[in-house]
Amino acid sequence: MFMVTVNADTCEGCEECVNNCPVSVFEMQDSKAVVAQGDICEGCETCVSVCPSTSVTLQEM
Ligand code: SF4
Ligand code: SF4
Repeated sequence: MFMVTVNADTCEGCEECVNNCPVSVFEMQDSKAVVAQGDICEGCETCVSVCPSTSVTLQEM
């Protein structure tokens, strides 16, 4: 299983992670991305690749 986190301090609210995650792990809240369904993450690393501010961290548990 994978643990995804978003650093709210550096997130720019571009929504790239929201729009590109194949299983909709993220949602927007107050113009920041938040992890809404971390348990269904497939570990594809797309969110890490598309984030322009390196705000997404992916860790295999
Ligand atoms: S690693 Fe893939 S499945 Fe997991 S949150 Fe990122 S984009 Fe979604
Ligand atoms: S891709 Fe990065 S900067 Fe853009 S909303 Fe997601 S976490 Fe924030």
